[in-house]
Amino acid sequence: MDGEKIIYGGKIFRGNLDFLENGLAILIKGKKIAAVGKFEEYILNYPDAEKIDAENKTIMCGLIDSHRHIVAPSSVEISTELITNGTIIGFTEAKSALFSGITSVRDPGCKHMGIFTVKRAIDDGLIPGPTVYPAGPNLAGTAAPASWRNYFVDGIHEIRKAVRYLFSSGSTWIKVVVSQATPESGWKDYIQFYSQEELNVAVEESHSLGLRVSGHIEGNEAVRAVTKAGFNAIEHGLDIDQPTLDEMVKRNVHFVPTLTWALEKKEMGFISKMKFPEFQIRIDNHKKTVVRAIKAGVLIAAGTDSPIPISRPGCLIDEMILLSECGMTSAESLRSATLNAAAVLGIEDHVGKIEPGFDADLIIVDGNPINDLRVLKKIDLVIKHGEIVQR
Ligand SMILES: [Zn+2]
Repeated sequence: MDGEKIIYGGKIFRGNLDFLENGLAILIKGKKIAAVGKFEEYILNYPDAEKIDAENKTIMCGLIDSHRHIVAPSSVEISTELITNGTIIGFTEAKSALFSGITSVRDPGCKHMGIFTVKRAIDDGLIPGPTVYPAGPNLAGTAAPASWRNYFVDGIHEIRKAVRYLFSSGSTWIKVVVSQATPESGWKDYIQFYSQEELNVAVEESHSLGLRVSGHIEGNEAVRAVTKAGFNAIEHGLDIDQPTLDEMVKRNVHFVPTLTWALEKKEMGFISKMKFPEFQIRIDNHKKTVVRAIKAGVLIAAGTDSPIPISRPGCLIDEMILLSECGMTSAESLRSATLNAAAVLGIEDHVGKIEPGFDADLIIVDGNPINDLRVLKKIDLVIKHGEIVQR
């Protein structure tokens, strides 16, 4: 049968176990993993299948970046230049992500509807790229920064209408710009752009359409407000206290801390040198929040939010390394970019594990990522939906 492949000879990280397994082969049929078991049996039953030798290598699920803007540029105005530039960057970014082993991306926002076109072009096979789960333009109160990826709506009626519009436009989840620290206060004070009532309605409307809700959220008060409102996840989420983290666990609120975001912002010159000491405190505090979140048992997914137009190759691996520095085991770090990321998207029933019936999104790497996450920076082979990605 067409599309049958057998991967054999390597060690396997299944996703749900904490160790690598030996002596197993993976049978792929079409876009799906058909079975995990004995090579001899598959070779007998499927003599014409394509054979992939993974001797001395590790096979694991394709990576998921839980916070990557494929169509990166934003601005106050949606101009022709912005859209054209975004399309070029979107194409390059999608290709670069897939080639570095990222088979799915949770895209947290684009200023305009261009991301839906890029997603369709990838799905139709016109351009190479990961499967994109786009939020589209972000719901934001009028007090939020004009130059972000915002879609300005205020009050419960406008919010309901905006969620419905995004749903029909192709958003697979809803992102709300909820709060931000002010640089003037040395990132100590936070402004919240939506009231509790508005947050509640954003959740109610999204959930009634089967969409998950997350938000750009900074500061403990805002995290408390969205947790109460029923948000499914939190992006960034700085300075979260212990009772709020415990509440997040209780209500199954997921967390995408984007540790590399703050670091790269500093390195890329987004922060004025005058503000460096205060910004370093902010980075350190964020790490402390993540350490406590891991201890509390919050489900955490790795997301990069790389601020440069094209993400630096390997930035997702750096995020996973930072998460391990905050207390995750290597296996947990691997899950933060596979199974946990799938859970944040609500697709963990068919993505993020090597199990029969799951999507055949796989990578093969030289070496053992449990011993050293850095081996993921050099991917040997990428398989997306059962097809070998030609680089
Ligand atoms: Zn972002």
